[in-house]
Amino acid sequence: MYKYIMDRGKLYIIATPIGNLEDISARALRILSEVDLIVCEDTRVTKKLLSHYAIATPTESYHAQSSRAKENKLLSLLRDRKHLALVSDSGTPTISDPGCRLISRAHEFPEEISLIAIPGPSAVIAALSLSGFSASNFLFLGFLPHKKGRETLFNEIAQAKYTVVFYESPHRILKTLASLQDHLDDTRALVVARELTKVYEEVKRGNAREILTYFSENPEKVRGEFVVVVGPTPSLENRSK
Ligand code: SAM
Repeated sequence: MYKYIMDRGKLYIIATPIGNLEDISARALRILSEVDLIVCEDTRVTKKLLSHYAIATPTESYHAQSSRAKENKLLSLLRDRKHLALVSDSGTPTISDPGCRLISRAHEFPEEISLIAIPGPSAVIAALSLSGFSASNFLFLGFLPHKKGRETLFNEIAQAKYTVVFYESPHRILKTLASLQDHLDDTRALVVARELTKVYEEVKRGNAREILTYFSENPEKVRGEFVVVVGPTPSLENRSK
């Protein structure tokens, strides 16, 4: 049985840093240096990480627009018992990042391909962990839609009995905070985490009005990468602890 598993192709799904290059596990580094090929969202981004750790493994790109032919090629390498690592530009692959289709197709060959997650950083988990809101149950929305369904989502966030987390870009954060101010009352706390693990890391906690005022008055801080964490409605908070 052991030999049988050893004989399979392996697809390692590896989390990489969300900013600070030290945030990568010893196991992730060992596997990145041992696999036959590293499948990257953008090879130029991953090569910065690899060169920092003097890892010379070949790389190949795979992203949202990659063809089915590219997936077929990667799957045939795996079925040929090769070992591949899948990484995205930052954090955990498939969390608002590519990888899902390839992983799903790899599951179609359970006798030939083993899937192994190498856990590590993800901005959603880092922001939740420092928010001070209960994370026993939470709802992760990824990036909010720009138009269709946006209003409905803000109404859902306003009613949510769980902590709600989502990603936001610097171009849209003020607009989003203004919508949160319109939909949430002042007793509802939220946390905005910016540039986590990086030089300009910043965490603001308050209600939507206070946080919107802060970023409106400090436009130089409307930069970088953002996670928004909205605490549960106070009347329902105890239920999700
Ligand atoms: N796969 C990644 C993960 O596991 O967190 C997420 C990739 S998604 C394309 C990128 C978004 O994640 C950014 O726009 C931002 O909202 C959030 N993000 C990533 N790194 C971050 C950081 N260091 N600080 C705050 N937010 C971050």
